[in-house]
Amino acid sequence: MQRTQAMPPGAEDSCGSSNHPLVTYLRRFHQKHSGCLEGQLACYIPELTKADPNWFGISIATVDGQCYEVGETRQPFTIQSISKPFVYGLALQDEGVNRVLAKVGVEPSGDAFNSISLYADTGRPFNPMINAGAIASTGLVHGADAGEKMRRILDFFSAFAGRELQVDEAVYRSERETGFRNFAIGYMLRNFGILESQPEPVLDLYFRQCSILVTCRDLALMAATLANGGLNPVSGQVAVDGRLVPRILSVMASCGMYDYSGEWIYRVGMPSKSGVGGGIIGVLPGHMGIAVFSPLLDPRGNSVRGIKVFSDLSADLELHLYQASRSLKSVVRRRYDAAQVSSKRFRPQAEQQALAQLGQRVTIYDLQGELTLFSMDRVIRDILALPREVDYLIIDVRRVVDAERPALKLLLDFAEANAPRYRELILSGAESLASILDELRGGKADSPWRLFGETDAAIEYCENQLLEASRAGQGSTPDQVELNDFDLCQGMDPERIEVLRRLLEPRCYEAGQWIIRTGDTADALFFLTSGRVSISVDLPDGASKRLGTCAPGMLFGEMALLERRPRSANVRADEPVTCYALPLENFQRLTTSHPDLKVQLLENFAKSLSLRVRKLTDEVRTLGQ
Ligand code: GLN
Repeated sequence: MQRTQAMPPGAEDSCGSSNHPLVTYLRRFHQKHSGCLEGQLACYIPELTKADPNWFGISIATVDGQCYEVGETRQPFTIQSISKPFVYGLALQDEGVNRVLAKVGVEPSGDAFNSISLYADTGRPFNPMINAGAIASTGLVHGADAGEKMRRILDFFSAFAGRELQVDEAVYRSERETGFRNFAIGYMLRNFGILESQPEPVLDLYFRQCSILVTCRDLALMAATLANGGLNPVSGQVAVDGRLVPRILSVMASCGMYDYSGEWIYRVGMPSKSGVGGGIIGVLPGHMGIAVFSPLLDPRGNSVRGIKVFSDLSADLELHLYQASRSLKSVVRRRYDAAQVSSKRFRPQAEQQALAQLGQRVTIYDLQGELTLFSMDRVIRDILALPREVDYLIIDVRRVVDAERPALKLLLDFAEANAPRYRELILSGAESLASILDELRGGKADSPWRLFGETDAAIEYCENQLLEASRAGQGSTPDQVELNDFDLCQGMDPERIEVLRRLLEPRCYEAGQWIIRTGDTADALFFLTSGRVSISVDLPDGASKRLGTCAPGMLFGEMALLERRPRSANVRADEPVTCYALPLENFQRLTTSHPDLKVQLLENFAKSLSLRVRKLTDEVRTLGQ
């Protein structure tokens, strides 16, 4: 047994900030139990009696690769029975679930780790966590010869730990020389045909696998890899097929602590495994792996301090898996309609007025966080309880960080069953979910969802549809507008409009051409008579953000009327554009030539600004809820 406190190679401290409150908790538990010297060193393997009874380490590794550790977490010791769930995983991977089940059961035996609990008829061991089942599992590991099998076991374990592990030869020899009971088990298994070859090489492999050297920190990472669905959270390496993880954790939960398993799951409440080297690991799926190392054992072969620390941790941090910790908080960040928050499209007042009513037919669900089956159920119930007038349903999933497959399946099934109730079902911001949605639909061609990258574009699309439908019979949106159609010219007689027209300069732009650039001198305002333009601002990181679109009938660059400051945004022609520019000097000249026209223009302008501010205030109120 190595006694050095040396840090294993490759285990430099990548994490574990000592100011973190979790480290403080661990320190508290460590202090609380370090004085406890109850229990005995494992003595049936002579080499294990060389362990220092004071050794005591606690490590936690999270599924995002953080380690918190206190005490002797870098002290190497032998993994012993904690090897069992991992070799079981390797056997499942090599042989497949059914063939493994044919050789090893999954029923708790309620017996000690070294009991000879075999089904009377078949000789099948009760489960893979007692020695009989573990030896049978080792017998199922693939490899051309003993050397290759051992290399595969070491590689497999190393992927979980994230560093290359080795066997402690002294402990291995010590156990091989004294492990008569395990030899007896091996021969029994051979007798029943559970082992299909000579038992000695399998036992030899088993003793070696039990003698793999690990540290408490390694064990926490191995447990965290299980918690992380088989993916090592530090190295990013896949250690085991994620589909096998639930099988491994199930046998750990029901049998991992031998004849203490029932009480363990009752008290501590997480799949765990102990070994006579003094280690115990616990796995909180989706969250963390925990390991405690202290070699003094109770009569069942479980670390005494290990049990105490796990019990305290579980109680204090409420880690019991059956505690209803699942957040039932809704994932609906907010729900609004397009009358409350319209798209960023700048629209003439008449359209704005129409949409103040029509917009209510567009309902937007802004979802956030994690979509689980349960949170999705709530969203769907909420949708189904909406008033019937909803024609357009937009589900914005841009802020969804994770989605469980069953949750997406539920969403899809909802859409398929309810599509006829809506004119359009829209999913926005779903790029990251698109492939899994496609896969869930099994390649069916017509999706119940129309996809949009941005919710704003989706809302604009719905608004356009609604306006189009409401105009039916009155002709469609004009492609070309006249000066008297502009909000700015409302209430003006034709004479005044003619005066205004004489001050204007007709301009044409090609698609893609810049009309205004940030920083330009603001020397004119523009009446857009045909084509569309986009307004955008430059962001500090060099990207640009679209503020909105203008269609014919809208003004842009109109702030120039009020302040002669450099332009604060860019305007670009999306399509071929015609417009009138009103140079500021011409506008100023009205002060002396046609003061009443200037007053009227400014009044209309003030009115449109005040409408815009009111709209913004309403939106802030809706979005701030
Ligand atoms: N190598 C040990 C044995 O088989 C492992 C037992 C254990 O850790 N509980 O006896």
